[in-house]
Amino acid sequence: MVHPDLWHDDAVETRFIQPYQATKTYLCPGCNREIPPGLGHMVAVPHEAPDLRRHWHRGCWNGRKTRRPRN
Ligand SMILES: [Zn+2]
Repeated sequence: MVHPDLWHDDAVETRFIQPYQATKTYLCPGCNREIPPGLGHMVAVPHEAPDLRRHWHRGCWNGRKTRRPRN
């Protein structure tokens, strides 16, 4: 589901969502688990496709290059 090239450091804008800003549940594409409300996390917005922005656990975002989930 996740297009790998979309998430290169040069290809995305990232920012940290503070716990108080996290008011919804998101699905993290790194681990396919939910990010519950109230948990600080990353949001990554591809320059090429802002509509495809995704919310990631901070650990999943930082580890996305080394940890390659297989389906
Ligand atoms: Zn995750």
